Amino acid sequence: MSDMTPLDALRTTFGYPAFRGRQAEVIDRVMAGRHSLAVMPTGAGKSLTYQIPALCREGTGLVISPLIALMHDQVRSAEAAGIRAAALTSADDNREETIRRFRAGDLDLLYVAPERANTESFRRLIADQTLALIAIDEAHCVSEWGHDFRPDYRTIKGLLEVRPDVPRLALTATADQHTRADILAQLGIPDEGLILAGFDRPNISYAIEPRDGITKQLLAFIATQTGPGIVYAQSRNETEKLAVAIATSGRPARAYHAGLEPQIRAAASRAFVSSEDMVMVATIAFGMGIDKPDVRFVAHAGLPKSIEAYYQETGRAGRDGDPAVAQLFWGAEDFSRARRRIESEVEEARRPGERARLNALAGLVEATGCRRAILLRHFGETPPPACGNCDNCLSPPAQVDATEIARKLLSAAFRTEMRFGIGHLIDVLAGKETDKVIGQGHQRLSVFGIASEEELKLVRPVARVLMARDALRADDFGGLSFGPGARPILKGEEAVAVVLPPKRARGSRRSRDA
Ligand code: ADP
Ligand code: ZN
Repeated sequence: MSDMTPLDALRTTFGYPAFRGRQAEVIDRVMAGRHSLAVMPTGAGKSLTYQIPALCREGTGLVISPLIALMHDQVRSAEAAGIRAAALTSADDNREETIRRFRAGDLDLLYVAPERANTESFRRLIADQTLALIAIDEAHCVSEWGHDFRPDYRTIKGLLEVRPDVPRLALTATADQHTRADILAQLGIPDEGLILAGFDRPNISYAIEPRDGITKQLLAFIATQTGPGIVYAQSRNETEKLAVAIATSGRPARAYHAGLEPQIRAAASRAFVSSEDMVMVATIAFGMGIDKPDVRFVAHAGLPKSIEAYYQETGRAGRDGDPAVAQLFWGAEDFSRARRRIESEVEEARRPGERARLNALAGLVEATGCRRAILLRHFGETPPPACGNCDNCLSPPAQVDATEIARKLLSAAFRTEMRFGIGHLIDVLAGKETDKVIGQGHQRLSVFGIASEEELKLVRPVARVLMARDALRADDFGGLSFGPGARPILKGEEAVAVVLPPKRARGSRRSRDA
């Protein structure tokens, strides 16, 4: 097959008239035998960038991929396009047959799991076989800095060293700057091999606001939306509770989470894919591999794991190019919980990366400027400062300086020995002689009654910002103590501003006549 040009392969094998975005550039590099890292959003067409060189270059294309289930999907769809493909995983019982076909040069593509790729026998197998390329899918898994590190991926390096002559193509949809640099270094790809492609989803309108009675907020939001949508909730329990509330409001809704029987999950997916107005309330287990281009909105009932996760989850909206809405409701307690998890459950070496990821999210939710610009900068692009299609661009939020009240709140937490929740601290700042205040003797503190009427209105939004910034941390009972972000604020080195949310018409971009 090797005298076919990439464009021939695109047209005859895949039936597409032209390359999209930067596909041709990636393929050209592979064809020229050079190592590359392609960072392209989901749906950009990464698979073709290794499938086509595998068809057009001499030898088999080796694809290292982390998920056995996805590998089998890819083998099936490659075979449907007439490509000779097979997978070599612990779940395949035709391994000998696959190895025989590979040796005989009868495979265009061979998918392998990383743990197999690193075995001595596999290295021997590829040592003197003609290889078209080595593709490393989901390449962010190689980086400890990335959001989905897999120790198995570390061993890929050893495999690559066996065949330095074969062009490498690392692929990922999600890699911030740090992770990208790490992938390049780990996989021996030169800096000039980085190809970063269009992350913008201009038809998605982004909106973010603090959570304040999530059921009511969600119902109000959904009432402004037409068409099918996904709501991401934070627990199985919450998916069920919210699905009932939405269904009761008259909109078809279902819950979806990993705790449901497989048949029930499959039935829910099928119903959603064919529905024109259903709301799927799901944990993040839902979405991968769901092919539904007309999802009109994605709402988050709580903070996603990272900007990468947020981008990926919201990216399931509007894949048909028509207007769609991404609405996020976040709570300060989401940040506290995430920070506690990092400090208690995450391995020491991975904490800096996780903290940076959370801080990036805090920057996004607290932002008063364009949300899209923040997202695109995060993915390494240089966007215009305003997009005209996010909440902050559509109705710029009023912002007030709250540094003074932030200091008073921090002092109140400090003077009360950093054990009390926001309600009690507000009573202290307001000078209320409640039983608890008297019982603790807090009416004698210098911070008792030092906040004005105006300032008191800002205490809760300020607490939210302080928690997002890790200046205040909440324990399991809501007791607030200092985090590393407290000092610069107390020392007057950092200001605190809070956004006063105007009563926005939610999802105003997509009115009913749209
Ligand atoms: P990714 O791996 O980047 O998420 P895929 O490789 O799964 O994306 O491709 C997404 C979809 O786009 C697939 O249905 C694929 O066939 C299609 N596609 C890829 N390249 C092109 C192209 N040049 N023209 C039209 N459709 C394309
Ligand atoms: Zn904007």
